Amino acid sequence: MDYQKILDTIYEEMSYRDVKGKVASYIPELAKVDRRKFGMHVYCGDQQHFCFGDSDEKFSIQSISKVFTLAMAMRIMGEHLWDRVSVEPSGDPFNSLTQLEYEHGIPRNPFINAGALVISDILVDQLDDPKKELLEFVRKITGDNSIDYDESVAKSEKATGYRNIALVNYIKALGNIKCDVEPIVDFYFYQCSLAMSCQQLSKAFMIFANRGKILDSGEKILKPKTVKRINALMQTCGFYDEAGEFSFQVGLPGKSGVGGGIVAIHPANYSVAVWSPILNEKGNSELGMKALERFTTLTGVSVF
Ligand code: GLU
Repeated sequence: MDYQKILDTIYEEMSYRDVKGKVASYIPELAKVDRRKFGMHVYCGDQQHFCFGDSDEKFSIQSISKVFTLAMAMRIMGEHLWDRVSVEPSGDPFNSLTQLEYEHGIPRNPFINAGALVISDILVDQLDDPKKELLEFVRKITGDNSIDYDESVAKSEKATGYRNIALVNYIKALGNIKCDVEPIVDFYFYQCSLAMSCQQLSKAFMIFANRGKILDSGEKILKPKTVKRINALMQTCGFYDEAGEFSFQVGLPGKSGVGGGIVAIHPANYSVAVWSPILNEKGNSELGMKALERFTTLTGVSVF
């Protein structure tokens, strides 16, 4: 497969001028990002990789970080994790509080904010220094020690994070949060502020394409069963309340974030990351989704 030719075609065909959405602004720091940015990177199992545009520029990965924290929590809790978080699509916006009341504080899945905050609670409870360990995890799977948090994004999110703080308080009142509220939201705001490029994200996500093995070293960091569960959740819950549309258009498991990044994988084959900060109404990168639709159309390969 000539991936570079396919990426060049996508880059020629598409422009930020063709999409009408807006850059996220509810976290003030994110509103400063240049809407013209556009990059894409593909990693294959044989370590070959291909790219275009701003694929080496770091951006705020936001909710994509929820896949890393889920992987860490599954390593600690195994199948007991599912007593605390469910595995169904929510069909509601990512920051919604409504389902929690009648579902007794058990979030629908680990990728909506409610679920990710329960995962934060687990990591804050179980790890001495969760911020450090998350950074170590991401640096290890990419072999890249330049990856770090973006303090200004974390602070900006903290200053405006009323819904997330409300979610933790609410879940705590319903009995599914163990630790104090402050360290949980602090960790959550930092995980969302992780700054990574498409190159780094696509490399990191090779662990999910590669049955839990780190691309460079071949070291097995996750069990195949864990990877199977995470990929299933990405397929059904990875795109806010647009997971059905993403499956329909693109046909790969993946995860998006409001920074405009999307990462998707094809098991045993490749990992692909795309970044364009212009979001559609559901909060997914508009150009990113279109680019991935073209990618699976031009390669003729998807999980379906
Ligand atoms: N930090 C964001 C929030 O909790 C994550 C948003 C996202 O990318 O879905 O509002």
